[in-house]
Amino acid sequence: MPLITIRAQIQADKETEEILKDAMRCATKVYNGLLWHLREEQKQTGAVDISRKNLNKILRKLPRANSYYSMSVQLTRDEVRAAYKSFFTLKNKGLTKHDAPSFRPKEQLSPIKYVQSGFTVKGEEVTISLGRKRNDGIEKVSFRISHRPDVEYKNVRELSIIYDKDSGRMEARLVVEAVPQQNNGVGRAAVDIGETILMAAAFDDGTVILYSGRMIKSVRRYWNKVRSKLERNSRRWKEIAHKEKRQVEHLLHIATSHFIRECLKRGVREISVGQLAGIQESTNYSKEINQRLHAWPYRKLVQMLKYKGALVGISVNDNVDERFTSITCHVCGKALSSNRKHRGVYSCSCGWKAQADVNAALNIYERAYNVSPVKWSSGQVARPAVVSFRLGWHGVVEPKFKLKGVCAS
Ligand SMILES: [Zn+2]
Repeated sequence: MPLITIRAQIQADKETEEILKDAMRCATKVYNGLLWHLREEQKQTGAVDISRKNLNKILRKLPRANSYYSMSVQLTRDEVRAAYKSFFTLKNKGLTKHDAPSFRPKEQLSPIKYVQSGFTVKGEEVTISLGRKRNDGIEKVSFRISHRPDVEYKNVRELSIIYDKDSGRMEARLVVEAVPQQNNGVGRAAVDIGETILMAAAFDDGTVILYSGRMIKSVRRYWNKVRSKLERNSRRWKEIAHKEKRQVEHLLHIATSHFIRECLKRGVREISVGQLAGIQESTNYSKEINQRLHAWPYRKLVQMLKYKGALVGISVNDNVDERFTSITCHVCGKALSSNRKHRGVYSCSCGWKAQADVNAALNIYERAYNVSPVKWSSGQVARPAVVSFRLGWHGVVEPKFKLKGVCAS
């Protein structure tokens, strides 16, 4: 059963909301307390010990650790470990001038997370445990949640209480076992992922849909320019990274949802995706932003395809070896990088001519399923359907679809 994350609004009375906020502030204090003690240890011994054993020892000195559920306290502890680990990575690469991860602002409401235990969800009614040691003696609180009704689920594996800065509201995130829809299709599709063309998708009948990646590219380029003037990892820098992430994710949602709908229309039950190793960035990012940051939208894209597919009974396999698929002729099989001409046209001496991403998607299809979607012959020209979409600047969102032309088959 596929695991997916649902966002839900929290509806709580004033009193309950204050208790939740208090617990979240305590999580901030515990987080900062752990950091403070680690810094002190470092001053005295010159070393940082982020083992669970050492952190648990510190936790016993922090009175606020008694103000929320003990398993959630352990998850706060793990957040500190994760912060130190990414700090070490930055430090080793010379990308930070700080000596330790930074404290959270005092008034910040840190997330409180429950895994498997300490909470119950019955319909819209949620009850969470706060432990037995709070000063006010409150051990449990209940509230209601509401979310979009489009996902049917059975068990809730994880629950996080989060304060959403953008909306200024309390939210719940639920990791649930979703009940997938019945899918009786037998069709297959193959996807080539890229930058200018985000997805080139080939179907059984040889039709190819191209999803433009231009908008994502320009969103990323714009925010990168803004960010390049700021100190790396400063608060403003992080805010902008967050903004960029939201806008890119929104565009990815539009594209992946559209594609999954197209798959369902065509009775697709299986999607194969070329491995991401070949993703190359042509955008001019400053050197200090590492490769990991470059590739995240594509990993996110595959993730979205996987969970949106899982919900409608479509399996997604992303292990297709995509080496040479972009330079190999789909008709005669000759691999020649010079066949990739300017403006994204693939043109072979055998007479085959196609948009380069169409050629690649057809090759990925053939490699994944050991059969070509249709037998193209030399001299034919494949014309794909193109889906492009726009995002208004600064959050105003206006998706627009244009379907131009249909593939000749
Ligand atoms: Zn050829």
